[in-house]
Amino acid sequence: MNLIEVKNLKTYFFSDEGEVNKAVNNVSFEIPQGKTVCIVGESGSGKSITAMSIMQLIDHPGRIVGGEIILEESNLLKLSDAQMRKVRGRDVAMIFQEPMTSLNPSYTVGYQIDEALRLHHKELNKQQRFDKVVEALDLVGIPDPKEKYGEYPFKLSGGQRQRVMIAIAMACEPKLLIADEPTTALDVTIQAQVLDLMKKLQDETGTSILFITHDLAVVYQIADEVVVMYRGHIVEKASAKELFENPKHPYTKALLNSIPKPGVTPRKSRLDTVDDTVDYLSFPKEIR
Ligand code: ADP
Ligand code: MG
Repeated sequence: MNLIEVKNLKTYFFSDEGEVNKAVNNVSFEIPQGKTVCIVGESGSGKSITAMSIMQLIDHPGRIVGGEIILEESNLLKLSDAQMRKVRGRDVAMIFQEPMTSLNPSYTVGYQIDEALRLHHKELNKQQRFDKVVEALDLVGIPDPKEKYGEYPFKLSGGQRQRVMIAIAMACEPKLLIADEPTTALDVTIQAQVLDLMKKLQDETGTSILFITHDLAVVYQIADEVVVMYRGHIVEKASAKELFENPKHPYTKALLNSIPKPGVTPRKSRLDTVDDTVDYLSFPKEIR
């Protein structure tokens, strides 16, 4: 069963000169309950704007000009601002690439997890919230969670800060977790640990995940379903297994050639594989 269905989403940016940048151009995909869908594509292909559209965090000069975002039968695009504020954090939570910009440097990590609980779980008292915060820190693998409650973000490593962001996002047990390049700033070992953690939390809670990355190696580790974006369009959609075993769209094939194959050395640069002179939109879409 699908948790969320994005249908014909269009998000455009309007310049003062009257130009229109169709950042997200008629995008449709579904996220099944408890599964991980990856959006993959190069920088500027519209991945983040798709995520921000689901959260309805698009600011001027951008605007959602069409489509539907159906979360359990209600169209999020029809909700009032007040209703949408409740959806954010409670039903849909988001984590970003750079945790230092989303964590507040002036508050302890415990306080910031507690804040999410105060906002969305008014039924919990102070002691219950404290226990839940410590449990959340423990769950994301922060050592000595009781002591770390009172720690400020700058005292933590990059990997630990990203774990805290995940703890904040998961504290309210969202139905959908959107993660926009959450591991891009981390080294490969820590990245693998954070991906494992997200998978483990998903197994325990049944949360659906929309995971955004430009890195097919990350897709390989975490995706159930894959959506390939190119210049605001979806060019290919398939299960992870199908996509890696039998990529159909020329753009997907080009992207796949840019990741190292086991036993084959060095990583090729993007320029060798994705050809800037090719208009990949001229090929038929491969939606499976
Ligand atoms: P990515 O796939 O790298 O996440 P984005 O979704 O951020 O790409 O961007 C998609 C397109 O939207 C790009 O062409 C980008 O220039 C444009 N865009 C993003 N944010 C803005 C903005 N605030 N104003 C104008 N254009 C924007
Ligand atoms: Mg982005």
